[in-house]
Amino acid sequence: MLTGWCCFTFAQASPPVKTLIVTGQNNHNWKDSHQLLRQILTESGLFQVDVAVSPAKGEDMSSFQPDFSAYRLVVLDYNGDAWPESTNAAFLDYVRKGGGVVVYHAADNAFRQWKEYNEIIGLGGWEGRNETDGPYVYYRDGKEIRDNSPGPGGSHGKKHRYLIAVRNKKHPIMKGLPDTWTHCQDELYDKMRGPALNMTVLATAYSDKSTGGTGRDEPLLLTVAWGKGRIFHTMLGHVGSETTHPAVEGCTSFIVTFLRGAEWAATGKVTQKLKIEN
Ligand code: ZN
Repeated sequence: MLTGWCCFTFAQASPPVKTLIVTGQNNHNWKDSHQLLRQILTESGLFQVDVAVSPAKGEDMSSFQPDFSAYRLVVLDYNGDAWPESTNAAFLDYVRKGGGVVVYHAADNAFRQWKEYNEIIGLGGWEGRNETDGPYVYYRDGKEIRDNSPGPGGSHGKKHRYLIAVRNKKHPIMKGLPDTWTHCQDELYDKMRGPALNMTVLATAYSDKSTGGTGRDEPLLLTVAWGKGRIFHTMLGHVGSETTHPAVEGCTSFIVTFLRGAEWAATGKVTQKLKIEN
């Protein structure tokens, strides 16, 4: 399956990072995805996980008031109705003061109209996003391009396995990973747009036109600094209505990058060791 690496191990957890997964509405199968994320985080021994489930779509959201300040890490698995103003304010306060955030897959579709949320995710897609939401960011000849020309934000071709290329080897999340590896069967987001402020692209994948892509190297893993907060954004890990979810379940590529990004967002360090096999 994956070439060149396997068998990651964990440092002693001391103590586990208090983590909140936010979910409850999504155009994806959030009932499965948040359980899979919780399992991955918990089994690492590094995280102690609670889940905040929002009211269903269209229901009264006023009771949805997670206590973000009680956590060091918030994992966003939410794409749905607007949160109450007080919840938005509490989330921004949490990030501003140094809280860690993981933006997972379609969480980058959410809240197009919320300016600060888009600064926190760095890049977003769908929901009518276009050039007014920020540049389309991609790579060409090894360099980051910020394209302000008109066009839609957010698309993907058909699911397939593809090569992920590291663009920032020195970042703690990527340090020690192979230069490239083959990711599991997954969507490959493209044409993502956003403010892209204080953003560092960690890895890209070539979006082949033969699979309905752009013919460009698209950013899929990135970090953002906002206030004192650290944000890790993974566009990987599609979980749909199918009974199996190969982009997350048993997918070393997803699990390793997700756990490393989560630890870094919470603590600024990555203590997880990799064993590279040739
Ligand atoms: Zn998806």
